This record gives sequence, structure tokens and C-alpha cells, in this order.
Amino acid sequence: MSKKFTPSKMLLEKISEHYPTPYHLYSEKEIIDRVCGLNRAFSWNSGYREYYAVKACPTPGVIRIMQRLGCGVDCASLCELMLAEKMGFKGDEIMFSSNETPSGEFKYAKRLGAIINLDDLTMIDYIVKECGLPEKICLRFNPGGEFKIGNMIMGNPGDAKFGMTREQIFESAKKCMTLGVKEFGLHAFLASNTTDSSYYPGLARVLMELARDLTCELHCKIFMINLSGGIGIPYLPNESEADINEIGSGVCEAYNELLVKNGIDGVRICTELGRYMTGSAGCLITKAIHEKHTYKEYIGVDACCADLMRPAMYGAYHHITVAGKENEPTVHQYDIVGSLCENNDKFAIDRMLPKIEIGDYLIIHDTGAHGHSMGYNYNGRLRSAEILLKTDGSFELIRRAETPEDYFATLDICPEFK
Ligand SMILES: *Cc1c(COP(=O)(O)O)cnc(C)c1O
Repeated sequence: MSKKFTPSKMLLEKISEHYPTPYHLYSEKEIIDRVCGLNRAFSWNSGYREYYAVKACPTPGVIRIMQRLGCGVDCASLCELMLAEKMGFKGDEIMFSSNETPSGEFKYAKRLGAIINLDDLTMIDYIVKECGLPEKICLRFNPGGEFKIGNMIMGNPGDAKFGMTREQIFESAKKCMTLGVKEFGLHAFLASNTTDSSYYPGLARVLMELARDLTCELHCKIFMINLSGGIGIPYLPNESEADINEIGSGVCEAYNELLVKNGIDGVRICTELGRYMTGSAGCLITKAIHEKHTYKEYIGVDACCADLMRPAMYGAYHHITVAGKENEPTVHQYDIVGSLCENNDKFAIDRMLPKIEIGDYLIIHDTGAHGHSMGYNYNGRLRSAEILLKTDGSFELIRRAETPEDYFATLDICPEFK
């Protein structure tokens, strides 16, 4: 089965007249479709907002598409906050979901009016000392153990460094109220990359029961339930998409049952999706530049791990299409490899593909989230450009490729690199 976003060979040839491979190519249309579908699925909640997880693709040309459609941003570091500020996000359009937060970052977030998501009880005194608590704050919950829906294990929150226990949530809420906090959000992230439509509704139940208990026992005012990220995309060609309408109505059902029935209403539902928003909307375009026949058949490409870490880091599968050979039989078994002096610099191992010729464009799919952004400079490799394919068919450079000058920029303290 072919991937939805598969740029044609003709388009890639046209782009190559302007920009050399490798580069990440993003589809504006795919991103718009995602935002619209998500907003529709949660339209029953008037305060609903998606806060795009900036770390997934911190590229203004990509984030702008979502910004225009009403999305906010979810940031976790100073530079991500600075990016949000430069792009004109302000106040409650920004979530600050950090952990082990360095000093100065809460102050910066508070100055922007961002909604701060507290990862731990000890952060309260830390924030008080740094800048004082805001009137609205979000608390990150970790229920511990295994997160099960029915008898299916969806995640292992007990092993995760994030969030607070139930007791700590109650203690934090009490303490915050004595220090002037008036309203609370609740947040949890319990499973990653799941296309199962019971995840968000199950997570919503956990958070809404907590909201109900905090309201009853401490008279907290809850303004937000933040379901964070975690909805996955089908990386494998035979996997199916998450059913966003079913997810939206499942959360709605939980909302009515656990909040409305208990006299709680007007609570905003929020999400901080990264992968789901842009993952499938991007691909890495690279060219076959070498072939090698030893104990295996290798195709060497001009991209490497520096452009896409996921296969090396997690053994993640990324589907590959050879441009112009979409309908040819996949009768050759290849390892598709980059140039790093690391044996895990492989985009695919034992992959069945059509016969590849030097100069063929390889489309490595689903790189629009946690792709370019995870890149690094190992082996003196430079990170690639990013290009946006617009709805009118034109394309635009939205981040240039790194140059040797960028690589040497932090050595300007040495006379020979000045
Ligand atoms: C990484 C992250 C997200 C986004 O996760 P995805 O799997 O890309 O949806 C959302 N919220 C927080 C706090 C995160 O750390």
C-alpha cells in the first residue's frame, strides 16, 4: 500500500533545480487536514485547543500553518519559548510543559503568560522564589503502575520520570491555593505513539475522576483537562490511522459522565499532539549515491542519522518509496545506509524495494515529527534543509541547510576559527 503523502518524481526533480538533496519536505495540505479533523472531533467542547508540541518540528513555516487555524504551542525549554514568542504566540496560547526545569525558564514562561505545567511538588517553592505563582496553573499527574484499558497495557507510567502521585497532586493543589492560585488544569501523558482510539478516552477518565475528586474534596476550580500528546501514526504501511472522531466522542462521553453529571462544566479540553499533527505530513528526500555488494546489498544515500535519528535510536520503521518506481515489484533486498562511521546509521535493513539505480530519489516517509528536530552534528555532518509544499503546488524553503560556518560557529572563541 502506498503512503498518502508521496511526492511525485516530477516534483522532486523540479525542487532539485533549486535545492539539493537531502531535505525534509512537508505537505501544507496534510497539516491543514489534520488540524481541521481534530478541531471537528472536539468541536463539542467550546474551549478546545490543540497546543502543538514544538519539539516535534520546531520550524516556524510548519507551526504557522497550525497557528493560523487556532492552535497554540506546547514548549519545554527556553529556546522553544523564545520561538513561540518570536512567532507571536502569547498568554494562554502557550503551554509550558517542562521537567527538571533550569532556573530562569519559569520566569520567562510567566512573563509570556504561558500556562505552566507543574511536573513536581518541589517546583512550587522553586517558582515562588523565581517569579511567584501565576493565578492559573496546571498539575501533571502520574498514576503509577501500568496504564491499562480493559486488559491491554498501553503504557508504563510507573517507570516514567514525569508527573506527580495522586497524594502529591492533592498536596500541590492545597499549597498552591494558599499561595493564591485560583484555577487548575490537569495533565498526564501515559502512552506514546498509539493509534488505539481508547487511549484518549481512557486517559480523560483518569484525569476527570481526579478533577471530580479535587473539586469535591478541596473545592478546586478546574479550568482545563490536558490530554497531552501520544496519538500515533501508522508508520507501517498496513497499519490503520487513529479514528479521531471516535476519540473525540469517547472523550465527550467521559466529560458528560464524570464532569457534567457532577455539576462541573466549562472545562477546556486541550491536547499537545506532535506526531499526530505533522508526522505523516513530512518525508525525508534523499538520493542514492553509492551501491555496495559485500555480505549484503547496500544502497548509500546522501542523508544520514543526522537527518533522521528514529531508525538508529529506536529501531523505528520508516516506509521507503523509490520515486518513479511506485508500481515496480519489490524484488530486491537492501540495507539503505547513511555515511556515519556508526553501524546503526541505517534507514532500513533487509528492506524489499524495486531495483535502485544511482541517482534515484528515495522518499523516507513519516518524518514530519521527531525527524529533523532530533538531528545532530555527529561526524561533522550538517543538518538538512526543510521545504514546504504549499496547497497551490508551489514550494518554499522554510529552513536552509546547515553550512560549515554553522558547524564552526561555536568555535569563534578560537583565533583560527574566527
Ligand atoms: C513529547 C510531548 C508531547 C508530544 O508527543 P507526541 O508523541 O509527539 O504526540 C506532548 N506533550 C508533552 C509534555 C511532551 O513531552
